[in-house]
Amino acid sequence: MAASLKAITLEGEKGTWTVFPGLDKGCGLCIEKCPKKCLSWSKTVLGVYGTPTVEANMEECIACGICEMVCPDCAIKVTKKK
Ligand code: SF4
Ligand code: SF4
Repeated sequence: MAASLKAITLEGEKGTWTVFPGLDKGCGLCIEKCPKKCLSWSKTVLGVYGTPTVEANMEECIACGICEMVCPDCAIKVTKKK
């Protein structure tokens, strides 16, 4: 595993989901609050404290933006497709 400051962007049918591992402290709030339960801990990328960052399953993500809203560290950005 490697710590990454680079944003990771995933594309889905409903929108785009981005995580900034350099801001992700690994609190798990987004995983807890996602209504689709489609966030999980990354097996490959570490966040700012050396804990795994999060990743979205874009097969399931509805781009609702709740993960972005609840993240205390602004580590997630969601853009819904128009
Ligand atoms: S945008 Fe909504 S559905 Fe997608 S990962 Fe975030 S909380 Fe889950
Ligand atoms: S809520 Fe933010 S800081 Fe907490 S695990 Fe999710 S992305 Fe990381």
